[in-house]
Amino acid sequence: MSAQIGVTGLAVMGANLARNLARNGFTVALHNRSVAKTDALLEKHSGDGEFIRTETLQELVDSLEKPRRVLIMVKAGGPVDSVIDQLVPLLEPGDIVIDGGNSHFQDTRRREAALAKKDLHFVGIGVSGGEEGALNGPSIMPGGSKESYAALGPLLEKISAHVDGKPCCAWIGTDGAGHFVKMVHNGIEYADMQVIGEAFDLLRSGAGIEPAEQAKIFTEWNQTELASFLIEITAEVLGHTDARTGKPFVDVVVDAAGQKGTGRWTVISALELGSPTSGIAESVFARALSSQAAQRAEAQEKLAGHEEKIAVGEGFVDDVRQALFASKLVSYAQGLDMLTGAAKEYSWDLRLDEIAGLWRGGCIIRAELLKDITKAYSAQEEPANLLFAPAFSEAIAGALPAWRRVVATAVQLGIPVPVFSSSLAYYDGLRRKRLPAALTQGLRDLFGAHTYHRVDDDGTFHTLWGEDKSEIVAEDTH
Ligand code: NDP
Repeated sequence: MSAQIGVTGLAVMGANLARNLARNGFTVALHNRSVAKTDALLEKHSGDGEFIRTETLQELVDSLEKPRRVLIMVKAGGPVDSVIDQLVPLLEPGDIVIDGGNSHFQDTRRREAALAKKDLHFVGIGVSGGEEGALNGPSIMPGGSKESYAALGPLLEKISAHVDGKPCCAWIGTDGAGHFVKMVHNGIEYADMQVIGEAFDLLRSGAGIEPAEQAKIFTEWNQTELASFLIEITAEVLGHTDARTGKPFVDVVVDAAGQKGTGRWTVISALELGSPTSGIAESVFARALSSQAAQRAEAQEKLAGHEEKIAVGEGFVDDVRQALFASKLVSYAQGLDMLTGAAKEYSWDLRLDEIAGLWRGGCIIRAELLKDITKAYSAQEEPANLLFAPAFSEAIAGALPAWRRVVATAVQLGIPVPVFSSSLAYYDGLRRKRLPAALTQGLRDLFGAHTYHRVDDDGTFHTLWGEDKSEIVAEDTH
């Protein structure tokens, strides 16, 4: 008997994906650097399906049908390169090496190019949904060659989550496209969590609503256009009482948010692409600020607040709901716009309707909203920005008065709402007829002769600021 796929790296993610594959009828060859993990999996879960136990990579390779499919699920970074180096001499042209870890897309591009030279396929796949998703159906974002997807896609589609009968897995694009899209997914996840946190803070500090009461509000919100996995679990976390103290659980957790790095990667990439992904950036910075414990303690003693003691009105809770929805929409719009920029930069043919569709199930940002986003990008003429799709421009227009009220109130009360407010600034910036960027260009021309364009003439100009301030035609040094 030979296996249809081999998995090397059997920590939580690899083990659960292997089990998911076996449960779906595939024979799976198992390998881990230390054999103990392989045996532990077999001992507990051999009933899941057909497994082949191997101790070495040679045995793993020998146990696979051709073209071979080897899924690497080891720690991201150096270990992936190390496993690839050991695997490659054992493989034959046409075999497929798959990296399902959280690798940086540029590493995936590099690995894909190196293996292509040896006639091997290298496929970076983004896998979202954590351990539970890996076992029961994740959202899967595969990159690599289209040819490799023909051999690999059917397996991945079978084990992925399904929504309305459609798999949450589709070929994303060549080389690192899958890992890039997974990275942006994680960036959106950061923003999504931050806006929920801002809503929580506003309801608590602005309206005095305790966590248990808020749990009910979030449960109600989960029946609205906000319906999503993250809103659902927010209700669960806020409704939880700490067994040791009897206090709301959220009050006994240290308010310093950690990060593993994919949000930071998204922002670095956005900066490289010149993509205005302010919501995701503010979310990453908000986590960084939350972790500056010493400075925060000192600031509480040394920095004035001058908050205004205003009482919030009756409609405040619903205003926050609308502001949350509008800010969330902007975060998605920014993330998707970043994908459009990346598609141009890296020559990927990214289909935003499919990407939104495969985020509908299995992954952390799964949300009702994604159904309408899929629809918006399936339209004959794709909107240049998600916010331009009629369903969303109308939704934002409806939420706008509440959004402005909430941001203004937060500022008066001294409650930080970096994503609520930066998303509103993005929205206003996008639709503003004249931006102060004209002044920025003027300043750049004065101190650095960086030139400018005129609103009433073609060409590039420079003013002789240090001489008679006359204008000359110049080389474009924008
Ligand atoms: P870990 O990231 O904790 O990695 C542990 C695995 O890597 C073990 O099987 C270990 O083998 C192996 N390993 C480490 N170094 C080497 C090496 N030099 N050579 C060979 N094998 C090595 O495992 P996870 O299951 O948590 O994650 C796997 C990947 O999936 C990571 O890229 C992670 O970022 C990604 N991911 C994780 C998610 C999660 O929720 N945990 C969600 C989505 C993606 P040994 O047992 O011998 O030490």
